[in-house]
Amino acid sequence: MVMSSGTIMGTLEFVVDDDRCYGCGACIGLCPTNALSMKELLAIVEQELCTYCDHCIPSCPVDALNILGR
Ligand code: SF4
Ligand code: SF4
Repeated sequence: MVMSSGTIMGTLEFVVDDDRCYGCGACIGLCPTNALSMKELLAIVEQELCTYCDHCIPSCPVDALNILGR
């Protein structure tokens, strides 16, 4: 499984599971800090912008978004 890394602050890390994400776009517009964007049918996160608010997590139909370290 390939994981693309996002923000790392302390022990937390926002990750997009590259194997699960199919680029549906459901998560992109939900981020209050605009940390999420789409690149070649894959959601990517801007490292400095994620605040671990969890808002985007439930939007993903394939459970590709996760915050590690909790
Ligand atoms: S956890 Fe919050 S800040 Fe981080 S990408 Fe998702 S919606 Fe944006
Ligand atoms: S909601 Fe899930 S499958 Fe859709 S773009 Fe976001 S991470 Fe990828």
